[in-house]
Amino acid sequence: METITLALSKGRIFEETVPLLAAAGITPTCDPEASRQLIISTNLPHVRLLIVRATDVPTYVQYGGADLGIAGKDVLLEHGGEGLYQLLDLGIARCRLCVAVPRTFDYAQAVRLGSRIRVATKYLKSARAHFAAKGVHVDLIKLYGSMELAPLVGLADAIVDLVSTGATLRANGLVEVETIAAISSRLVVNQAALKVKRALLQPLIDVFEEKSRDRI
Ligand code: ATP
Ligand code: MG
Repeated sequence: METITLALSKGRIFEETVPLLAAAGITPTCDPEASRQLIISTNLPHVRLLIVRATDVPTYVQYGGADLGIAGKDVLLEHGGEGLYQLLDLGIARCRLCVAVPRTFDYAQAVRLGSRIRVATKYLKSARAHFAAKGVHVDLIKLYGSMELAPLVGLADAIVDLVSTGATLRANGLVEVETIAAISSRLVVNQAALKVKRALLQPLIDVFEEKSRDRI
């Protein structure tokens, strides 16, 4: 039997995907937060979910480990999108990719003076493109998480990170000074799978499109 494999990350993306799956008549048989299983079956014998790190979703789809995936635009910008089609903006896990600095750091002046700015981020590619387009000189420092900490201990002058409410920034004495991109999660598909399994995938894609139309 032909199967559909959908890769996604646990946490907010999984939670916001459950209603989309429900609309397609798909119910996961367990909750990835409660289970250690990385392959989650569903009520439909030919549909299964892979639970992977958010940053690994495009890679699984690119190489055909999964037919479909749900990944944030932030992750797709860094990955580059080779080997996959971005089919839909699902309008879930919305936030923005921003530049933030300590309240005491005069970012506008640093830019005006042409100073070199040290920027900590896990989004090297997006950050590099953003500052290059503005003609701002930066030294990028790659981190894998808790970017807000870097300016507090003198590791960086600024960070590039995702922001939704801004509560984490405020709690760490940081302010948002520029928005780089609006972020939401996308449905991506393996290019070969879309051709070979079109008949199986299309009804699911249609339901996702229908459900996300009012959200975007
Ligand atoms: P981990 O936290 O395990 O290191 P991660 O940071 O990649 O992994 P999440 O924090 O669950 O995983 O983020 C997954 C995706 O959700 C991100 O790629 C982004 O698209 C989106 N996202 C992240 N933070 C927010 C937020 N505060 N609000 C809305 N969406 C967000
Ligand atoms: Mg996170």
